[in-house]
Amino acid sequence: MKYIPYGRQDITQDDINIVLETLTSDWITQGPMIEKFEGKLTAYTGAKYASAMNSATSALHVACLALGVGKDDLVWTTPITFVASANCALYCGAEVDFVDIDTATFNMSVEKLAEKLQMAKEKKRLPKVVIPVHMTGQSCEMEKIHQLSQEYGFKIIEDASHAIGGKYKGAPVGNCKYSDITVFSFHPVKIVTTAEGGACLTNDDKLFQKIDLLRSHGVTRNKELMKNESHGPWYYEQVELGFNYRMTDIQASLGFSQMDRLDQYIERRHEVVDQYRELLKDKNVKLPFQLEDCYNSYHLFVIQVSADQRKKVFEQLREANIGVNVHYLPVHLQPYYENLGFKKGDFPVAEEYYEQIISIPMFPTITKEEVSYVCEKIGEFVH
Ligand SMILES: *Cc1c(COP(=O)(O)O)cnc(C)c1O
Repeated sequence: MKYIPYGRQDITQDDINIVLETLTSDWITQGPMIEKFEGKLTAYTGAKYASAMNSATSALHVACLALGVGKDDLVWTTPITFVASANCALYCGAEVDFVDIDTATFNMSVEKLAEKLQMAKEKKRLPKVVIPVHMTGQSCEMEKIHQLSQEYGFKIIEDASHAIGGKYKGAPVGNCKYSDITVFSFHPVKIVTTAEGGACLTNDDKLFQKIDLLRSHGVTRNKELMKNESHGPWYYEQVELGFNYRMTDIQASLGFSQMDRLDQYIERRHEVVDQYRELLKDKNVKLPFQLEDCYNSYHLFVIQVSADQRKKVFEQLREANIGVNVHYLPVHLQPYYENLGFKKGDFPVAEEYYEQIISIPMFPTITKEEVSYVCEKIGEFVH
């Protein structure tokens, strides 16, 4: 069997054609494809605004800044995520803390969040922003998190890097019904790709204006945002300290084309999940729990085995040419975060989860035969 990666992009002839068209057009960046791609994102999710950027990491950074995160502020996220969900707060000079995960969904635990908020209130050290992450593409319980945000007065950024195409209570993830800003990633292992890329979505006019400025140097040609009278048609002003976090039109045209296949991709991912669930049901592995009111986009399919055999099984699967992975080493155990004072034992559910997990191949173009082969090998190696 040839090597089966854990995730892989799907690039069609249509994608190639539209990228070539952009490449030979007048605009390869700052042109019309950006807005067209953003239009697809708002049409799909129902959010009022989308701002495409060069990565989800940039989008998370800008999202924090737009919500006013700065020095002495506190931002909370989950330890089971990619480091970018926490790093974005550090970029702003804020302090990061984590909320341990739920034992069923492995998303941020709402009960632990409520407890931690109660304690933080007593200590007068409440978070300014909470960043729930929709692990593998299963939405967090956003309605409950939103209720807590009303009670304790924090803002919400959904890190939906895994979750474009997913639904929560029947509505698309990214509609920002229960959050201030939602962030998507378009890295090639994610569901829709622009090679590198990300986006902020929001329903708030003021937040959008701020995000839009920060993505491009804090510079504006909008008279309403300028401090001084325009000197003439050439005139622009820098009114914020922004960045160059722009997406190119080449990338946006790839994303524009990919968005047409988003629903198809998610359906295919569900077929793969059904096959995995069927072929693995009698094996000694724990399969992901699925909440009833969430439609999972299945960026990842994570199985659990007992901690004593995880490393061995992982190595054997790699030797069998199966590109398994682990998502994730808890962020608080990364050396950089340990240097900030976090240590083993701080978030025990996340740590136990980490010891047991293996992400097995999950992408829309994986074949039935490949899925069968992966399951057969899992059966062979797991006791
Ligand atoms: C991939 C990912 C990111 C970062 O995305 P980039 O587009 O690579 O910057 C952030 N958060 C989560 C949960 C991710 O999976």
